[in-house]
Amino acid sequence: MKAAIIGSGIGGIATAIRFKAKGYDVDVFERNNFYGGKLSEEWINGYRFDAGPSLFTMPQFVEELFELLGENPQEHFPYYRLETICNYFWEDGTRFSATADLDVFAKNIESTFGEPQTQVKRYLSDCKQLYELTADLFIHSSFHRLDTFLSNRFFSKLIHIPKLRAFHSLNQENERYFKHPKIIQLFNRYATYNGSSPYIAPGTLKVIPSLEYFYGAYLPEKGMIQIPNALVALAKRHGVRFYLNAPVEEILHNGRRVTGIRVHGESKNYDLVVSNADVVTTYDKLIKNVRGPKRIYSQERSSSALVFNWGIKRTFPELDVHNIFFSDDYFSEFNALFKTKTLWHDPTVYIFISCKKVQGDAPEGCENWFTMINAPHIAGQDWDQLIQQARKHILGKLTRILGTPIEPLIEAEWIFDPRQIENRTSSYLGSLYGTSSNSMMAAFNRHPNFTSRLKNLYFVGGSVHPGGGIPLCLSSAKIVSQIIS
Ligand SMILES: Cc1cc2nc3c(=O)[nH]c(=O)nc-3n(C[C@H](O)[C@H](O)[C@H](O)COP(=O)(O)OP(=O)(O)OC[C@H]3O[C@@H](n4cnc5c(N)ncnc54)[C@H](O)[C@@H]3O)c2cc1C
Repeated sequence: MKAAIIGSGIGGIATAIRFKAKGYDVDVFERNNFYGGKLSEEWINGYRFDAGPSLFTMPQFVEELFELLGENPQEHFPYYRLETICNYFWEDGTRFSATADLDVFAKNIESTFGEPQTQVKRYLSDCKQLYELTADLFIHSSFHRLDTFLSNRFFSKLIHIPKLRAFHSLNQENERYFKHPKIIQLFNRYATYNGSSPYIAPGTLKVIPSLEYFYGAYLPEKGMIQIPNALVALAKRHGVRFYLNAPVEEILHNGRRVTGIRVHGESKNYDLVVSNADVVTTYDKLIKNVRGPKRIYSQERSSSALVFNWGIKRTFPELDVHNIFFSDDYFSEFNALFKTKTLWHDPTVYIFISCKKVQGDAPEGCENWFTMINAPHIAGQDWDQLIQQARKHILGKLTRILGTPIEPLIEAEWIFDPRQIENRTSSYLGSLYGTSSNSMMAAFNRHPNFTSRLKNLYFVGGSVHPGGGIPLCLSSAKIVSQIIS
């Protein structure tokens, strides 16, 4: 089998490795002059910034790829387990450090917020149970094949439908367990892990915190960029060929099946083609005479992001690797993001500081702040104006809460906005995670990993089943490899 993969995002690289393990001849074509798609990095004046994901869960999905090709992951892919999951800050001066140790975390919630620790543990244990109930079907299987729905494991799960909490929002679900608004807010924030609103997305999303509290939060020893770097090196050691600066111009087909691709004006024959580019971009830009299913255009896209990467010439011991400065009005913030498609004037600010763990990411005595707020997907906004306002609001908020003027400390700056996210990774409307999960049918409506319109064309990555985020993209590669038997 000769396979072409369009794009070297995490899903494309993982597919290449899985195909190699099957003995295929594999070529990966990447439009950019770097690997990794959204998982990339930038250096500005001696500061290194991971340009996309910052939170790494389920490292076993990466390790599995080394094992598939007979290598020991520990030799090539070392990572830290974080002891603190996140430091939380509120405008009224409340601060809370969420430790990875579940007992300590629950005890600290009780002493700081008065929520009984038994209730915190019950909530997280219910989250884990739900994950275990749903993962096999929703994350690890092709959702669009009859054999999945005719299987015993599908029928055995039907009786558990009420446990999915799909008819309530995540916020309603969290209100069922907790009274303190700050704890509800803390668990509501997990909806943003796939670019959704906790006030609309189903309670099923409560599976997400269980990944951090039961399976851990991690950081690769050389930063997030080490994920694509280590995997590309692995793939190359086993004979996968990568071509950078190689935008695929067309997926060639004879009306029924794909026959190859056109790149740099040259037609190349392949037995199968996998697109790791956004599914909308793939249909609109790469396939002639075949329209994509209507629903991919009407489905709501996930949120995007506005990131201020700042080189800060001071250290802040009160900050850890992950830090959140909450908005006082979370509901209005999400209403702005998903209804009016704009930025809220008091946004929740997330700061990722990799140099807390990764030596050399910032000069001595300084810190690299990846300062991110959620942003709506592109919908005709005046981004230059919004960015200017957001910068002012974020600096004001951080200055108030940290008690130190922040602007004078910035000695390097790189702003990454939804327009650049769209350009840099061909992500339709700049969304981070493909389609949002703001509907109980979202999981069912995501584009499958194959199409009945053209044989031997497959799709992998965040814009298709099972969705965005590193673990799910890795899972989509596994599904693609399984359905090509
Ligand atoms: C700011 C930000 C923060 C995020 N935070 C997190 C996080 O903390 N944790 C997490 O798990 N996830 C996070 N995500 C989401 C995560 O990055 C994505 O879900 C995931 O990396 C997407 O991978 P993918 O396989 O879909 O490929 P993508 O990363 O989308 O890459 C697709 C690749 O295809 C290439 N391509 C497109 N068209 C062509 C063509 N015609 N020819 C050749 N190549 C082409 C592109 O150049 C690109 O390299 C974040 C994303 C962003 C942007």
